[in-house]
Amino acid sequence: MDNGIKCCALCTVPITPDIDSDEHVIPASIGGRWVVRGFICKSCNDEGGLTSEAEISNRFGWFSLTAGIKRESGKKAPRPIIMKTDDGKKVLLKPNGVIESWERTLEKIPTDDGRLLISGTRPSMNELREMLSGLKRKHPDIDIESAIGNARVEASYKPITHNFGGFGSDAFWRSVVKTVCAVAWSLELNEQDCEVAVNYLRKGEGKPFNLFYGRDVILNRPMDQLFHCVSLRSDNERNLLLGYVEYFGVFRGVVMLSDSYKGGDVDRTYAVDPVLGKEIDLTVDLHLSDQEVDQFQDGAILNGENYLAAFEQSIAIALSLSEKSKLDMAINSAVDKVCNDMGIQSEQEIAPEQALEFSRRIAEAMAPFFLDRIRAKHFTFD
Ligand SMILES: [Zn+2]
Repeated sequence: MDNGIKCCALCTVPITPDIDSDEHVIPASIGGRWVVRGFICKSCNDEGGLTSEAEISNRFGWFSLTAGIKRESGKKAPRPIIMKTDDGKKVLLKPNGVIESWERTLEKIPTDDGRLLISGTRPSMNELREMLSGLKRKHPDIDIESAIGNARVEASYKPITHNFGGFGSDAFWRSVVKTVCAVAWSLELNEQDCEVAVNYLRKGEGKPFNLFYGRDVILNRPMDQLFHCVSLRSDNERNLLLGYVEYFGVFRGVVMLSDSYKGGDVDRTYAVDPVLGKEIDLTVDLHLSDQEVDQFQDGAILNGENYLAAFEQSIAIALSLSEKSKLDMAINSAVDKVCNDMGIQSEQEIAPEQALEFSRRIAEAMAPFFLDRIRAKHFTFD
C-alpha cells in the first residue's frame, strides 16, 4: 500500500498501529526471541498462539524441558509432562529435565539367603525410617541409623519411550510457513514476493513445503549446542524464493515461498540458542540441486537414516545439558548450605584445617541430589 500501511499476511486487513502485533519469528514457547511487527494483525496473532504455536510447543515439549530452555521474562515456565518408560512405568518430566517417578513405592523382599531386602522407588527418609522401626519391634537388634547409613543406591536408567510423532500436521506446517514469511517481511518483501506461501496461509492452497533430511544444509553445525534456525534464499536463475527451518536439530524443513520470484537477491539466516537465549552464527547452503527441487515437488520424505541420526544427536545434546544443569544446581545449593552452616563467608578462603570437614559436608549435602535424580532406587541391608 502506498501509505506505508501493510496488510496482515494472514487475513489481509490493513495493519493500523492499534491492531499491529509482536509476532515471534520462531515461536516463543520453544525459546524464540526475535519479534517482527507489521506482519500479522493482533487477532490472527492470538488465534495462531492457540493453534499452530501450541502444536509446536507440544511437539518439542521433551526438548524444551530436558534442555531447560529459557523463556523471556514474564512468560510462563513450561509445564511438566508425563511420559512412559520402556517397561510401562509413568514418569514426570519437569523443567530442567528432572525426571521423577510417578508412583512412590517401598517394599520388603525376603531374599533366598534369609535376609530382607528393602527396595523402593523415591521413598522419603521418613517412610524408610518408619518401615525400619516396624521391623525393629520384631528384630530388636536392627540398628536403624546404621542400616540407613549402609543403604545402597542403585541407579536404574530405564529409557523413556516418547513418541515425538511426525511433523506432518497442518497446524505445525502453518507455523513453519509463517516463520519464513515473517523473515521475508523483515526484509521488506511482501505478499507478491511470497505468493506461494501466502496462498497456503490464506487459502490452504497447495503444500509448498517438505521435510529435508537429504543432506545437512548447515555448514558449521554446532555439535554441542541446541539451536533453532531459519534461512531464506532467492534462486534467481529458477525464480525461486526458498526457506529453511530447523528446530532443535530434529525438525528440518524447506518451504517454497515463491516459484516466480522476480525481486532482489535474498540470503538471510537467523539462528538462536534457546538455552542461552543468544543468537548464533550459522552458514546455511540452500542452493538446491535439480534433483532436490524435483524431490521437493514430489513430496518425498528424504533419507530416513539422516532423520534418525538427527534425533540421536539432538537427544544426546539435550540430555547432557540437563545433566550439567542439575549438577550445577546441586553443587551451588550444597556450597551455600555448607558455607552457611560452617560460618564461611562467600569470598573467604577455606582454611586447611577446615578443608576436610568442608568436603565431608559437601558430600553429605549432595546426597539428596543423587537420590532425587535417580528414578528407581534399591536399598539393601546386610
Ligand atoms: Zn489478520
